[in-house]
Amino acid sequence: MTLYRGRIAPSPTGHLHVGHARTFWIAYQRAREAGGVLLLRNDDLDPQRSKSEYVRAFIEVLRWFGISWHEGPDVGGPFAPYSQSERRSCYLQAWRRLYDSGMIYPCTCSRKDLQESAGAPHETTNDEPIYPGTCREKTLQAHSPAGVNWRFRVPDARVVRFDDHAQGPRQFTAGEDFGDFVVWRRDDVPAYQLAVVADDDAMQITEVVRGCDLLKSTARQILLCEALGITPPTYYHCDLLVDEAGERLAKRSDAVSLRALRARGLTPEEIRTAWLGMKLTGY
Ligand code: GLU
Repeated sequence: MTLYRGRIAPSPTGHLHVGHARTFWIAYQRAREAGGVLLLRNDDLDPQRSKSEYVRAFIEVLRWFGISWHEGPDVGGPFAPYSQSERRSCYLQAWRRLYDSGMIYPCTCSRKDLQESAGAPHETTNDEPIYPGTCREKTLQAHSPAGVNWRFRVPDARVVRFDDHAQGPRQFTAGEDFGDFVVWRRDDVPAYQLAVVADDDAMQITEVVRGCDLLKSTARQILLCEALGITPPTYYHCDLLVDEAGERLAKRSDAVSLRALRARGLTPEEIRTAWLGMKLTGY
């Protein structure tokens, strides 16, 4: 039997809130119940948005919350490094494979899409506009990805199906639910979709536990796995906590940050009891 390997993968772009704590707590419990390994990955892919103070903060607050991990940037492990900013060679290898097989193309369209692609698209309905395909037929002799956006050419009309361990069977159609997406930004930063697929493979993750706002990204990632000859992990997409207005909790709202709740004297147990009374949303 394969050993269960799970991961929690916060991005250090702000302080973690109670919604992150819930998702990571579920990931922690699933790894424990399976007698497996949980690793902490520091998703500091985007140099413009990531800050080391947030890395220190999430390590500290997650430990306080009662979550422990077997591998991570602070404890090391067999698949180090565990910070995305130090894993460029792994992403370059994946880029090279996609490039050699002709599955990505250089895109010189506007800068607008670029800004978001190193971050995970935490959106549900319209997470990024479907790329109209303007540069689809372009080619470029390149030894490295820098200088243009590289997009993955999705197989139009292809239905991507997966059996989510929390949400049940799901399916998305390439070209309709999502379009050609960026795998490498022109400012030479690998995009979230590519990095996460390369890392989960390299770190031998067997189950990805994360928020259900990334369900659609799972379809993209399954296509990338296919293109790279990787067996995808299984998936468990947690329902998300919402505030009173029904909005997904955001990192910028400090009121629900773990650190603010801790400063107010709440214990981890009290926080876990409190989220039982909070509203959830699935998609
Ligand atoms: N690091 C990503 C984020 O914070 C999530 C990565 C993932 O779980 O796939 O949004």
